[in-house]
Amino acid sequence: MNGKIYDVAVIGSGPAGLTAAIYTTRGAASTVILAGESWGGQLMLTTQVDNFPGFPDGVMGPSLMEKMKAQAVRFGAEFVPQNVTSVDFSSHPFKLTTTDGTTVEAHTVIVATGAETKWLGVSGEKELIGRGISSCAPCDAPFFKEKEVVVIGGGDSAMEEALVLTKYATKVTIIHRRSEFRASKIMQNKVLNSPKISVIWDSEVVKIVGEQKLEKVIIKNNKTNQETEIKTDGMFVAIGHNPSTQIFKDILNMDEKGYIIPSTKYKVLSTKYSTMTNIEGVFVSGDVHDHTYKQAITAAGYGCMAAMDALNYLVDNKSSKPVV
Ligand code: NAP
Repeated sequence: MNGKIYDVAVIGSGPAGLTAAIYTTRGAASTVILAGESWGGQLMLTTQVDNFPGFPDGVMGPSLMEKMKAQAVRFGAEFVPQNVTSVDFSSHPFKLTTTDGTTVEAHTVIVATGAETKWLGVSGEKELIGRGISSCAPCDAPFFKEKEVVVIGGGDSAMEEALVLTKYATKVTIIHRRSEFRASKIMQNKVLNSPKISVIWDSEVVKIVGEQKLEKVIIKNNKTNQETEIKTDGMFVAIGHNPSTQIFKDILNMDEKGYIIPSTKYKVLSTKYSTMTNIEGVFVSGDVHDHTYKQAITAAGYGCMAAMDALNYLVDNKSSKPVV
């Protein structure tokens, strides 16, 4: 990295970032992936992925990410497992500072920082994360062998967490704030047919209680306002994610929820550069700008788009090699 100015710096190493790097390296652009200390994104925390094309028998999330990483590295991407702590997009080349204080310089940047766990934000939660409270059943379920756990949420993630937990826990209770799940029918059916899983509908956790570890959660029924105490050994929070955009605050345009907004200027003028942000030469891809689809395959698709835009930008600005 020392002293080198890369054609492309990719921030993030989920499906968007790694796909972007596969395309930029194949486009003969020197590429560094600032992957993050916990690289690979959300698929590293999941189990079997059945809907990624090309894997008729499914593929384990971490295995899929290892394959994407290997593919990017095969074409020459440099993989740096460090977080980016700050960015300077005020002049060219762009400057990115990593955890150990290194400055990485690049002509273009692809932001693919994805999204991170959304927590409930109720009293007692923060203190007990890692002490009975988790957001990753594939990582932590074995700690709950022969125990009772609750899962919060009604989307596909909550269904998946609950199903993973049934392999270890004696009883899994899903607590959902409405009277129907948001999850896909196939996942709902698996959950509703599991003898170990029960559901408490129309209820939200309002308080968490525990000294050294989680002891109980207090839930409130949204229809009756009645509060109930549930003793539990574990609580898995699966209520979605927030975009990871803190380091771009006041630099890149974002919406009220913190998702990065691509510049509309280029959408109007040209089909090129639809992933460009308000800073020329900085592109965005994946869940960090996607409210709607949030799938591994769409993130990969966005990664491809951002890479092609970055390659075109390099050619248009004559600072690098031609696009393949
Ligand atoms: P999601 O679909 O946004 O669902 C979040 C769930 O949490 C919703 O049921 C929501 O309730 C609930 N919720 C949100 N904020 C809450 C709060 N403060 N308190 C209580 N409950 C709250 O998120 P996700 O399940 O993480 O899924 C995200 C995307 O990834 C989706 O597109 C999903 O299909 C995909 N995914 C796919 C798979 C798979 O295919 N195997 C696995 C995981 C995720 P409401 O329903 O009332 O809004």
